[in-house]
Amino acid sequence: MKKKPAVDMDEIRERFASYLRKQKYRNTQERYLVLESAIVMEEHFSADELYLRMRGASLKVSRATVYSTLDLLTKCNILMKHRFQEGGAHFELADKMPNHDHLICVECGRIVEFQEEALDEIQNKVCEQLGFKPIKHSLQIFAVCRDTRNCEYNNS
Ligand SMILES: [Zn+2]
Ligand SMILES: [Zn+2]
Repeated sequence: MKKKPAVDMDEIRERFASYLRKQKYRNTQERYLVLESAIVMEEHFSADELYLRMRGASLKVSRATVYSTLDLLTKCNILMKHRFQEGGAHFELADKMPNHDHLICVECGRIVEFQEEALDEIQNKVCEQLGFKPIKHSLQIFAVCRDTRNCEYNNS
């Protein structure tokens, strides 16, 4: 159902470099390590998950660098930041997929992506009525897994 993105690593790296240049941030190697590790993470990840993955791969970066770089990558639209739950943020690659929305289990935190054309129609209709030009939308539906076998919370 879902297609893996054809990610153009060079293009993304270039976009990040030009953003850092423009904002006068230092072009450090650690920042590119974070970028490259973020791109190969699956679907949605938290800053801590990325940090642990990098540590596991023996990459030397501090937790603070991971956090601050993820913020920079969000600001230059390479990553999208979602707040699915209280407290933590999740990231995903911005040009990975067409506009999609998320269902989140409030018990176990499972995240499921979906695309529903009717939501695009609503987006367009609302923008039309209120005099906006739509770019994208982000809808989060909070729910609980109906099938308890899928739900880690109900499983334990
Ligand atoms: Zn997503
Ligand atoms: Zn669940």
